[in-house]
Amino acid sequence: MRTVILDSKEENIVRCAEHIANGGVVAFPTETVYGLGADAFNPDAVREIFRVKGRPSDNPLIVHVHSVRGVREVAEIVPPLAEKLMSEFMPGALTLVLKKKKDLPDCVTAGLNTVGVRMPSNPVCREFLRACNVPVCAPSANTSTKPSPTCARHVYDDLYGKIPFILDGGECEIGLESTILDVSGASPRLLRAGGISLQALEKACGRNIEVVGGSTVALCPGMKYKHYSPKAEVLFSAYYGGMSERIDEVYDTLVLSGKRPVILCADFNAKKYGERKKYEMGADYEAYARSLFASLRRADADGYDTVLAEGVPSDGIGAAIINRLVKSSGGKII
Ligand code: AMP
Ligand code: MG
Repeated sequence: MRTVILDSKEENIVRCAEHIANGGVVAFPTETVYGLGADAFNPDAVREIFRVKGRPSDNPLIVHVHSVRGVREVAEIVPPLAEKLMSEFMPGALTLVLKKKKDLPDCVTAGLNTVGVRMPSNPVCREFLRACNVPVCAPSANTSTKPSPTCARHVYDDLYGKIPFILDGGECEIGLESTILDVSGASPRLLRAGGISLQALEKACGRNIEVVGGSTVALCPGMKYKHYSPKAEVLFSAYYGGMSERIDEVYDTLVLSGKRPVILCADFNAKKYGERKKYEMGADYEAYARSLFASLRRADADGYDTVLAEGVPSDGIGAAIINRLVKSSGGKII
């Protein structure tokens, strides 16, 4: 099979939506990362997603909807707190876990009695979902264990020959996956840090939110698997006063032992590393988040064998950056 990248003109969006209606699988853009979608009510199409990605079948998918009507098509109960969060954060980078409708196929939710639902804000994605006219379940459109794709080219590199179409919406604005909040129980629980901060959610809920497993290690099903890993080894520094000195020390030791390391740093820290190889990640932590997965892929392409990533403060988008770096480093913190 040849894989083609289609630009986001209307006829291409319609072509991709028709492919979904016919039981096919298509990669599409969102503001978080690219998704690999299928009709959530077609079990054969859903199973094809798992096959294409090499994804373990006990790792549930998020259902992407165009409107509130779509949420009600897959969720049995939408409690008042969910209504409030939907009005505040949808469309946006928030996935709500709700009690699932019985007729939603079990392969979507890996047998759980809950479903993760999200309404993306990316305009190309919204047009695509409207044209599909069915809820579209999707994981990230990468090969399992690789960094998530934040542009069409990343999807192409991972899935060439396995899917017919990649709908191109440019670079993802957020670049990290959605925040997952479980509102199916008596009190809300944060399962994964992501594009919407814990602080913003707590403000909207007017209460504290329990963070399951600590702010950096989320405990959703599926999170036990290896994630976000380039070929290079990732080492990740805690965020503290002596961070850049520590990174310099590890960098120089690696070079002496014949390794080729590269540092991921905020623009405002770049000078501290002198002539050492580095990727400047941007002027703020939103920019760091946006370029994180692309930088992990770039390190492989540029022939580096070790990535030394700067830590970031844990508030705002920082919690999501830390979570992804802990995962991609396998917990190797320097
Ligand atoms: P991905 O799109 O690749 O980031 O994967 C989706 C993530 O959402 C998985 O890691 C799941 O653990 C999580 N998820 C999806 N549905 C549920 C659910 N019903 N309950 C808890 N977590 C979920
Ligand atoms: Mg993923």
